[in-house]
Order: sequence, then structure tokens, then C-alpha cells
Amino acid sequence: MASESKGRLIIVSGPSGAGKSTVLRELRSRCELPLAVSVSATTRQPRPGEIDKVDYFFLSPQEFEQRRKDGEFLECKEVFGRGHWYGTLRDQVATGLNQGKWVILEIDVQGAMTILDNDLFNPVTLFLHPGSMEELENRLRSRGTEDEAAITARLETAGREMAFMHHYQYEIINGDVDIAVTEICEILKEKKGKQSCSKS
Ligand code: 5GP
Repeated sequence: MASESKGRLIIVSGPSGAGKSTVLRELRSRCELPLAVSVSATTRQPRPGEIDKVDYFFLSPQEFEQRRKDGEFLECKEVFGRGHWYGTLRDQVATGLNQGKWVILEIDVQGAMTILDNDLFNPVTLFLHPGSMEELENRLRSRGTEDEAAITARLETAGREMAFMHHYQYEIINGDVDIAVTEICEILKEKKGKQSCSKS
């Protein structure tokens, strides 16, 4: 049965290395709003530890294409610099909103623009980034997991993504996870009006 309280769509984008996953994990444990993260579909392979239907619906390119043709995606894109398709499944969003949930889409800037351009769901839009390209470069280098060419490619992709920032309602600088989460909680609390978010 649908809840009486109305759900809301929240879009979170930002360059890779901005710490989106960490911030969203913390947010879910700290925010009192009924948050749900929409599970996207992708054609990329699972990483170690990732679980099908939990982290993503991992689809073959053929299945992804079929589901795209069948109109199952609210939006789907070949994400910048990834070489793989990612898409938001309509039923993930509809189910969450019908249950009165605040449904979080952690999607790239192109997917976010599709939703905004089509005026869908009046979402709260957040752009999370590490403060500056220099800071992003420092983070990528300090991880020590990528070679010079990969770092250059990631920074180029990040530059393209940062150019979309002004389309978002809120810019969140993730210099400190705790501060970023508190800031997002406050924004959502304000949107919700009465319901509150608190630190655990
Ligand atoms: P990763 O492969 O690291 O999990 O995600 C790569 C990128 O894909 C991230 O920027 C993420 O925001 C984006 N992404 C994940 N799911 C979706 C989706 O459903 N639609 C779009 N457009 N981008 C997505």
C-alpha cells in the first residue's frame, strides 16, 4: 500500500574520486528521512565484492539494449570515460516513490540532464565534488592505483563533468565527509519541512 507521505527524487552526481559512495552510505545511516537508493543497471562487469541486484543489475550489452528498447529506463547513457552503459530503471524509481521513499539516484551528469530536460519528478539535485581539480588530482595520485595515463584520463573526464555543476541546485564540497553529510541532511530537512535528520 502506498504511504501517505510523499516521496521525492534526489539526484547526486559528481566526478569519480569525489567520495559519493561514502557520503551516501553515511547519509543513509544518519538521515531520518526514508531514503532508498535506486539500483541502476550497467553493462560493466561486477567488481570484487559487488552483488548483482544489490550494487547494480549487471546486464549483458544485449539484455541492456533489449530493456532499453522495451522502455524500461528512465534514462540511460554511455557514461563519460567508462565505455559502458548505465541506466536508471523506471520501476526502481516508481516503487520507491510509491512507498513514500526519498529515492536517491547516483547518476552521471548526462543522465541527470535527461531527467531535468524532461522535467521529470521535480528532483532535488546535488553536485558533489572535492573542491578543486587540484584536490581531485591529489586524491587520485594518493590512491596510487592508477598510472599517469589513467590519471590524465580521469581528470579529463572530471573536467567534463564539473562543467555541468551549474545545472544543479546545490554544490556540496566533500572536503570532510561528516560536514558534507550534515549539509545534505540540512538541505533535505529543509525540503521536507518537518521531518528531521540527526547524527547517529
Ligand atoms: P561505477 O562504474 O564507478 O560504479 O560508476 C561510474 C559512473 O556511472 C558514476 O559516475 C555513476 O554516477 C554513473 N552511474 C551509475 N548508475 C547510473 C545510471 O543509472 N545512470 C547514469 N546516467 N549514470 C550512472
